[in-house]
Amino acid sequence: MKTSSPDPARQHLWRPYTQMKTTPAALPVVSAEGVRLRLADGRELIDGISSWWTVCHGYRHPHIIEAVKDQLDRVPHVMLGGLTHDPAERLAARLAALAPGDLNHVFFCESGSVSVEIAMKMAIQYWINQGIHGRTRFVAFRGGYHGDTIATMSVCDPDEGMHSLFAGSLPRQIIADLPVDADSRARFEALLDAQAGEIAGVMTEPLVQGAGGMKFHTPETLQAMREACDARGLPLIFDEIMTGFGRLGTLFAAEKAGVTPDIMTVSKALTGGTLPLAAAMASKTIFNAFWSDEASAALMHGPTYMGNPAACAAANASLDLFEREPRLQQVAAIERAFARLLPPARDIPGVVDVRWQGAIGVIEMSGLPAVESLKADFVEAGIWVRPFNNIIYLMPPFVICDSDLETLINTCLAVTRRWA
Ligand code: PLP
Repeated sequence: MKTSSPDPARQHLWRPYTQMKTTPAALPVVSAEGVRLRLADGRELIDGISSWWTVCHGYRHPHIIEAVKDQLDRVPHVMLGGLTHDPAERLAARLAALAPGDLNHVFFCESGSVSVEIAMKMAIQYWINQGIHGRTRFVAFRGGYHGDTIATMSVCDPDEGMHSLFAGSLPRQIIADLPVDADSRARFEALLDAQAGEIAGVMTEPLVQGAGGMKFHTPETLQAMREACDARGLPLIFDEIMTGFGRLGTLFAAEKAGVTPDIMTVSKALTGGTLPLAAAMASKTIFNAFWSDEASAALMHGPTYMGNPAACAAANASLDLFEREPRLQQVAAIERAFARLLPPARDIPGVVDVRWQGAIGVIEMSGLPAVESLKADFVEAGIWVRPFNNIIYLMPPFVICDSDLETLINTCLAVTRRWA
């Protein structure tokens, strides 16, 4: 077990999700290539979690780097209010063509949380623009995670999620159990009816709840939500920030589940992990509620850096790579490797479940005390893996080669076994 004390020279940088007093110093990264991070001391780590699930083509894919450089030479940034540019126009059209159903209207912003906020705002105003007031609350699900801003924290799991500290200080939402069976479906529908006049929409991560515990649910669960929403005219929002762009083996989880939402949020792998960009995509029905001769019916939102041209160029190049290179086959290969190499983890003391789907592999423990020492052991062994709560998970870049993937999985198991 190795821990190091916080480095005073780095104390000005307030780090994410970090107790600054006690957490070991962060590791300085000086370069990154393919699936590898190179540290200042010369060590190399295989990135087992794609830099928070973004770097699907690996670091510094030349096609994306070229596209961004070219765009920086033309127009690095320009406001989207009253002006437009080809990278954003092209990207919106391509996303509309790729997304399921008629999610044809793309509103850009710069982070996943903000795209969820925009989706919520769209749903609330969808009702207001029809003259219906009071529908301001969302039904979200236990185990869900949708971001760290005030409104997005309110649709996270209020009890076990990372934002439970804020319970009571947030907009009041309606948190339900996922409708995974007949009983929970009946309870879910009863809840929708009991609060009918207050509900603006239903929000979920489709098929996999990520930061809430890497929990999987079925297409039937989403189908049940879709039917319940259709019966009541409620917008269904899929947060595809984690699942979007191939992580589950199809471009979007909605496609895999065969269920189309009314609003969908995307970010993370949208630019292949190159620059910050996100979007809320709306169906024709949602968009039409804003289409009016009344100026007041417009969506009053406009983040300064929305649709940044360099970020859009990165995203367009990333979509090129999904067309030109066999990304979804690579995800299928990662899934097969998980099926082959992860099951032995079931014998490790303290492991309560091992599961995988697409390019997500999960080892669920009964608990992870002293998690910092486990993280340090992963680094010592040459892999970058960041367990949280009781979850150890792998979400490698899709381009990882067979031998690196075997090394990643086997090392993860060996370190966990030693540590357990
Ligand atoms: N929604 C989901 C499903 C996520 O996984 C995340 C980030 O992990 C977010 C929203 C928030 O995105 P961001 O960190 O870009 O604000």
